[in-house]
Amino acid sequence: MDVTDMGGKLQQVLLTEEQIGRRLDEMAAQIDADYEGRDLLLVGVLKGAVYAMADLSRRLHRSVPMDWMAVSSYGSGTRSSGVVRILKDLDSDITGRDVLIVEDIIDSGLTLSWLVGNLSSRGASSVEIASVLRKPGAAKVEVGVKYVGFDIPTEFVVGYGLDYAENYRNLSVIGTLRPEVYGA
Ligand code: 5GP
Ligand code: MG
Ligand code: MG
Repeated sequence: MDVTDMGGKLQQVLLTEEQIGRRLDEMAAQIDADYEGRDLLLVGVLKGAVYAMADLSRRLHRSVPMDWMAVSSYGSGTRSSGVVRILKDLDSDITGRDVLIVEDIIDSGLTLSWLVGNLSSRGASSVEIASVLRKPGAAKVEVGVKYVGFDIPTEFVVGYGLDYAENYRNLSVIGTLRPEVYGA
């Protein structure tokens, strides 16, 4: 299978691998500068943030511990349920630590505003967010995202960790799927 367009399933490429990489370079440099002299814990949100975590963390000029959470706010479809459940919790105690949540995308912002509240209530010194993508809807929720890769339109995208029914995560680019894929 052609990993670039997933065997013709892609409608449009929004962001290439190179564009994503260049933006991550900038975000990592900013994070290095902002957290200079402070320890940092990266918290990846499974499963979508796996690629962002791998690529962002390797661009930091420091050794950094990583932990993971899995929360659920979406089913296998394309619409938010608004319900957040913890499917896998952190392994680490985050009391007194500077936490940077690594995310793939912020859509309604519901998941992340809940997560920030949850991690703050555990006594973290600070909780910030780095997300590869942000959609306009995120503006409706009070969630400050310190590091944003790209603002994109309200469209359902896949690739670079983002799935449709657990597929297409391993696409190197970020793009939209042909309507036929959804059975339209
Ligand atoms: P929110 O709570 O911000 O509405 O949604 C956050 C989660 O919904 C993301 O972490 C992601 O799993 C999923 N999501 C939101 N928009 C998209 C999208 O365009 N494509 C995919 N594949 N998942 C999305
Ligand atoms: Mg996510
Ligand atoms: Mg998903």
